[in-house]
Order: sequence, then structure tokens, then C-alpha cells
Amino acid sequence: MGGPEVDRLIGLLAKLPGLGPRSARRAVLRMLQQPETRMAPLAAAITAAARAVRTCSVCGNLDSRDPCGICADPVRDQSLVCVVEGVGDLWALERTGAHRGRYHVLGGTLSALGGTGPDDLNTTSLLQLADELSEIILALSATVDGATTAHWLTDQLRRVAPELPITRVGQGVPFGGALDVLDDGTLLAALKGRRSV
Ligand SMILES: [Zn+2]
Repeated sequence: MGGPEVDRLIGLLAKLPGLGPRSARRAVLRMLQQPETRMAPLAAAITAAARAVRTCSVCGNLDSRDPCGICADPVRDQSLVCVVEGVGDLWALERTGAHRGRYHVLGGTLSALGGTGPDDLNTTSLLQLADELSEIILALSATVDGATTAHWLTDQLRRVAPELPITRVGQGVPFGGALDVLDDGTLLAALKGRRSV
């Protein structure tokens, strides 16, 4: 249907989160029917994003600038750092507009089953800067791995910065819940209702 180019496009789109083969076919058909107004701009935007976007060397966010727009923002409190598992969590929290500091992306959680150990997480820059910070907010999933990671990271932070206030979001985050699937109101409540660890 449509030739190998179209099959390949549908196959690639169908692997994206939220899209299956059926949605991918519909999207591709819509683009093919309006190649100049829909397909060409999308192709150009994908190429531009793929060329420009990189991992922020300070926090681990994905952005076309390094440091990213959040790390480079002079209005934000650089000493208040919210630690998240992934960029999706960062973008979800950022959407709420509730956090006035910056972020730090771990790149996952400790996981015995998943084979993720301390060396697999991005913590070096966080631990190096820890004694200059005013507060660290741990915004990790309410899962066993999230809790294990929070305990482990708290221990590491206490070693380099014993006085540093460390808080955890929790209120409103259901057990087993990943942050990036929560609605904005729940995330806002979780961030505001953080408590000391
Ligand atoms: Zn950054």
C-alpha cells in the first residue's frame, strides 16, 4: 500500500509512543494528501531538531542550547535543584510552572532487575555542586526503584553536603506512579506538598 517509502514511514511512526500502526497510517495519509503544507514542513522540522538538539551538560535536559534554556535563565534560582528520572518528568513539571529552580536528570533509577547501578546514573555534576545548593527536591517515581534511588542518592548527598536540605515530593503521587503521566494539578500538589527526608 503506497510503496516501500510509505511503508517505511508508517513503520517508523508506528513505533512512537501514543501511535500504533492504525494512527500512523492515518497520519501518513493526511500528510500525503497535503505534501506541501503538511509533509515538507514536518520533514524540515524533524531534520532541524535532530541536528540542533543535544543533552544539556549541566542538567541533562534535551535542548538546542547548551546550557539549556532553563539552566541559562538568570531569573531562576540556580541553587534550588529538582532531581528527576528522565527528561519527560522535567518537561511535565516544567509545564506546571510551579518550580522556580532548575533541574537535574538522573537518566533512570537504580534497578536490580533492570541491571541499572549507580555508575549508570548521571550524578557526578550534582554531587560536585551539592554544597553550593540551598535545597534539593527529589521528584522520583513512587515505585520501589524510585524509593531505592531516593535513599541511595540522599546518602551520597549527605556525604558531600551534610547540611543541605533534601525534600521529596510524594503527596498525591499514587504508588507505582511515574511523574510524567500525572495531570498538572496533581504534579503541582506533589511539588508544593514536599517534605524533608
Ligand atoms: Zn540544563
